[in-house]
Amino acid sequence: MKIFKSILFALLLAAGMNLGGCKDPKNPYGLDIVSTREAYLKSIAEDENNRLIDLEQYIPGVVLDIRYADTNNFTHKKIYTQPKAFLRKPAADSLLKIQRLLAEKGLGIKIYDAYRPYAGTLYFYDVYPDTTFVAAPWKGSIHNRGCAVDLSLINLTTGEELLMPTPFDDFSPAASHNYMELDSVKLANRATLFNIMTLNGFTFYEHEWWHYNIKGRDKFKLMDISFEDLSEVKVK
Ligand SMILES: [Zn+2]
Repeated sequence: MKIFKSILFALLLAAGMNLGGCKDPKNPYGLDIVSTREAYLKSIAEDENNRLIDLEQYIPGVVLDIRYADTNNFTHKKIYTQPKAFLRKPAADSLLKIQRLLAEKGLGIKIYDAYRPYAGTLYFYDVYPDTTFVAAPWKGSIHNRGCAVDLSLINLTTGEELLMPTPFDDFSPAASHNYMELDSVKLANRATLFNIMTLNGFTFYEHEWWHYNIKGRDKFKLMDISFEDLSEVKVK
C-alpha cells in the first residue's frame, strides 16, 4: 500500500509539473539543448568537432545570402541579428572541399542558411505549422544541431545563381527531388548540386532541393547560442 501511495504521489507530481506552467518558454518541450556559452565551450573541449565554424572565414569565395537575417523570407520578418553561417567542423570541412571541387568547373556555393539557434525553430513553427517544410519544435531541427545547410550553386565568374527548380523556401511540390516536370537545365543543375553534396559527406532531404545534412548528425546536440556569442569564440 505504501508503495502504491508512493507511485500515485510520483504520478501526480509528474502531472503537476506538466500542467503547472513551469515550462521554460525558450525550451517548452524540455529538450536537451546547449544554451549557454559555458556549455558550448565545454562541448568543444570534449570534442573539437563540436565547434561551429564561421563559413565566411573558412571557405574562400563562399557567397552568403542569409535570408533570415533580412525580411526576404517566408516569415517576412528578420529572424537573425546578423547574416552569418556556421556549421560544425566536419560539415565545414566537407563544404570547403566541395567549394574547391566546384571551382574546377567554374562554380561555387551560395548559402541561404546553416546553423539556426533553436529559438528560430520555435518561431518558424508558430508562423508556418507544417512539419514537411518547417522542423517540429518538439524534436528540433538539424539546423539547430549545426549539421544542415541550405544552399545553391553560382557561376563563379558572374556571381549569378544557376537556374534551380524553385526559389529557396518555396514550399511546393516542385521543390522536391522527385519532381521531374522541369526543363533540362534545372534538372541538370539540381543534379550537379545533389551529386557533389552526396559524394562528399552529405545526405539530401527529399522535399527541398536546397537542404543537405552532414552524416552523423545525431551525435551533435541541439543548440540555442546566438551568432554574437559564437563570433566571440575564436577559431583555433
Ligand atoms: Zn534547411
